[in-house]
Amino acid sequence: MTLTDLGEEAKAAGEMMAEAARMARTVRVGTADVGAKADESPVTVADLAVQALVARRLAARFPDDPLVAEEDAATLRQPARAGLRARVAEVVAAFEPALQVDDVADAVDRGRGEPRDRYWTLDPIDGTKGLLRGGQYVTALALIANGEVVVGAIGCPRLTLGGVSVEEGGVAVAVRGRGSWWMPLREGTELVPLRVSHVRESSRARVADSVEAAHSDRTRQEALLRALGCEVPPVLLDSQAKHVVVAAGRADVLVRFPRPGYQEAIWDQAAGALVVEEAGGRVTDLAGRPFDFSTGRRLTRNEGVLATNGHLHDAVLSALRAARSA
Ligand code: AMP
Ligand code: MG
Repeated sequence: MTLTDLGEEAKAAGEMMAEAARMARTVRVGTADVGAKADESPVTVADLAVQALVARRLAARFPDDPLVAEEDAATLRQPARAGLRARVAEVVAAFEPALQVDDVADAVDRGRGEPRDRYWTLDPIDGTKGLLRGGQYVTALALIANGEVVVGAIGCPRLTLGGVSVEEGGVAVAVRGRGSWWMPLREGTELVPLRVSHVRESSRARVADSVEAAHSDRTRQEALLRALGCEVPPVLLDSQAKHVVVAAGRADVLVRFPRPGYQEAIWDQAAGALVVEEAGGRVTDLAGRPFDFSTGRRLTRNEGVLATNGHLHDAVLSALRAARSA
């Protein structure tokens, strides 16, 4: 089985995320390469370079499809940021020699498309804080049609999936109705099927959680683990690497309690949700509602995230209901 067997969009998504992951690996992010966005979160040369490259590739392969991506070129366009522009152009040029320094900002801003009947959504670097810390980060791309994720691809430069491949780095690719696979970065395009775990007892559940405590409410998380009688220490990973680990059966539950006022961005959830579901798992919000990807850039009709191996889903939802009514 190779990417070619999965159809044009999945093949393109898998190839783009493999290329993006390889490119991200080449970037050594120095302090001059980091900027801050309006919400104080970091944006680096890697985020901008991946977005510029993928936006160019998508424009060439699917010119009619909008791209809804996390970053914009506001920082890059600042006159004082000529150095950052040059760095981004240099990183991208190794993969796309036609891109000139003056095209970089426009390429990034091609990601400012609006969601509609069919569009792509990209998180060029999900887990930027992980990248800066030496932890996990991924590149995540999904195709959404009529409010439903139909293709998802997650490039994982630093992830080793024990039991699936001995190589560090790979791409998880999922196609609705067909399955989820892992494609090691250095082994060509042969696909290895991803399957969730068989764990059914909540005491044995391994929970995947963010490294960044500010991204999830730890107090509610710990209360949930106590209610489930969970005896296994959680595994902490940045980014949608967590979804890949659940899809591969290396963790059983991913739960994300939103901080007050925070709404999940589509690019943080779309690819990951499909990768888990097509590996046999289940994904809903904390109230058990399916994700509604028809609400624009944020999942405004959903609250939090629950992704499991499927067997444990109802047990976790019951514990959450009990906690709410207590
Ligand atoms: P993770 O490593 O799973 O925590 O996910 C990283 C992603 O969390 C980033 O790409 C951000 O888009 C997103 N994020 C940033 N701030 C918050 C927040 N306060 N609550 C939840 N997610 C956040
Ligand atoms: Mg993100």
